[in-house]
Amino acid sequence: MNIEEIKRKLLPYIDEDRVLEHEPMDIHTSFRCGGSADLYVVPANIAELFSVRELLLKEGMPHIIMGNGSNLLFLDGGYRGVVVKLGEGIDRVRFEGNIVFAEPGVGLAALSRQAMKEGRSGLEFACGIPGSLGGAVYMNAGAYGGSISDLVVSVASLNSYGIMQDRKAEDCEFGYRNSIFAKNEEMIVGIKLQLGEDLPARIEERMVELTERRNAKQPVNMPSAGSFFKRPEGDFAGRLIEEAGLKGLRVGGAMVSPLHAGFIVNAGGATTRDVIDLMTIVRETVAERSGIVLEPEVQIVGEE
Ligand SMILES: Cc1cc2nc3c(=O)[nH]c(=O)nc-3n(C[C@H](O)[C@H](O)[C@H](O)COP(=O)(O)OP(=O)(O)OC[C@H]3O[C@@H](n4cnc5c(N)ncnc54)[C@H](O)[C@@H]3O)c2cc1C
Repeated sequence: MNIEEIKRKLLPYIDEDRVLEHEPMDIHTSFRCGGSADLYVVPANIAELFSVRELLLKEGMPHIIMGNGSNLLFLDGGYRGVVVKLGEGIDRVRFEGNIVFAEPGVGLAALSRQAMKEGRSGLEFACGIPGSLGGAVYMNAGAYGGSISDLVVSVASLNSYGIMQDRKAEDCEFGYRNSIFAKNEEMIVGIKLQLGEDLPARIEERMVELTERRNAKQPVNMPSAGSFFKRPEGDFAGRLIEEAGLKGLRVGGAMVSPLHAGFIVNAGGATTRDVIDLMTIVRETVAERSGIVLEPEVQIVGEE
């Protein structure tokens, strides 16, 4: 099925200005590089999202779900298929005491601020993670000793037959930066979280402290996807990369951050090729020196 035909079939369900052809992905991802997606579809609400997903599955059209694009690296050849963007309109949140029901497109920073105002604690660790809640569940995002799996009660998702699943946290196979959703290609559509209770001022204090720590140690003002590599067992990727003398190393516009060696940043005009070449040098050098093979945490998608 060609893209024109898919676009035509999508239009009964979604406004034309929400179905973009040949959309550059550098403007939609935090790394600010990568080629274009054949189609970039932005459903306005959860009902549209369901219709879009159903059609793409029915037509056997390759597609990828994207939250905030803060852990995605698109190759320079772009993506042959449909990128479905979850954000505004798919971000409703309801607090019922310590329980939160949320749609996947809500931003983690916005959600943690809202929880703070409601006097609900537990999301402080997430206030500086620039992802969506859906992306955080998929990745089991975490920081400063907390991770989203500590708070998840259950996750609703649509499988590849279009059937709704409702999984309890213990069935989500959460691990370090991993979940069942990274293996089964289901689309996360609703998340139930259990928070604690505290005074908003105390929650805010913790958020401010964590933000200051993050700002001091991480290159938050440069395009990146956060920590490029997963933490190896018993060590830190940043420490191993620094020890290998790779801080500040550049390939084209890609650079190992001089501030935090665990981050590869786009220092200006990087192509994804630059990032991949730099990643390869880092992995090979670290493996030679330490015997540890670093695995990327960043999700690399698309065509060369
Ligand atoms: C400056 C910076 C700091 C960061 N700090 C941290 C940190 O401290 N801790 C941490 O864990 N991460 C961190 N990250 C990485 C990133 O923000 C997290 O991994 C985040 O959870 C990704 O969410 P996202 O919405 O951007 O996901 P995306 O990048 O859009 O997607 C990531 C993956 O999730 C899938 N996905 C997204 N939404 C859904 C859905 N609804 N259903 C099914 N699959 C879905 C995508 O297909 C993709 O495979 C950082 C990134 C940056 C740029």
